[in-house]
Amino acid sequence: MQIVKDYGPITGESIAEKLNLTRATLRPDLAILTMAGYLEARPRVGYFYTGKTGTQLFADKIKKMKVEDYQSIPVVVNENVSVYDAIVTMFLEDVGTLFVVDDESLLAGVLSRKDLLRASLGKQELTAIPVNIIMTRMPNIAVCYKDDPLIDVAEQLIEKQIDAMPVVRKTEKGYEVIGRITKTNMTKAFVSLAKDDV
Ligand code: ADP
Repeated sequence: MQIVKDYGPITGESIAEKLNLTRATLRPDLAILTMAGYLEARPRVGYFYTGKTGTQLFADKIKKMKVEDYQSIPVVVNENVSVYDAIVTMFLEDVGTLFVVDDESLLAGVLSRKDLLRASLGKQELTAIPVNIIMTRMPNIAVCYKDDPLIDVAEQLIEKQIDAMPVVRKTEKGYEVIGRITKTNMTKAFVSLAKDDV
């Protein structure tokens, strides 16, 4: 790295000469430094020092993590199901957030644990109240796309004080729900970073 810093752009051949090594011996080391982002290789020009610190490279790596690589399967209910059935679904599917869809399977709303708890506080008959009365509804739903950087979604979860976001595909009629990103996915992503598993 010092040689590249001092003499870059410099070819692999010239670096090898300065170190009294063969180009072949040096090749894996240069490949690692290039892959890690410390050096940049330009064809027919040679190696450059990128000037990036370990912290900057780590931040670059985090920014490259995409929603689609960490999302879970969404659990959806129709907007006409009862609050009672939604509670049962939440337990059976073992999730903290349900996404509500209309008869065309398009995103209509979101149900959190507390939305369902709140609806259960009164003396209403829970089998008689459809979830579309109590859900947070479109257009007030924060959504994300499979190509979004995961870190942007994490920021939105914090900013909007929510636990989950639907991953959607936009169609002419509305949003199709194709995935789910939750705080649990964020925790898993955090662990995979520590294991260098990104
Ligand atoms: P809880 O209410 O169980 O703490 P959340 O923090 O996820 O769970 O939800 C807080 C409120 O925000 C709820 O009323 C819920 O309907 C709503 N909400 C949850 N997710 C979203 C979202 N992606 N977009 C908009 N509102 C949401």
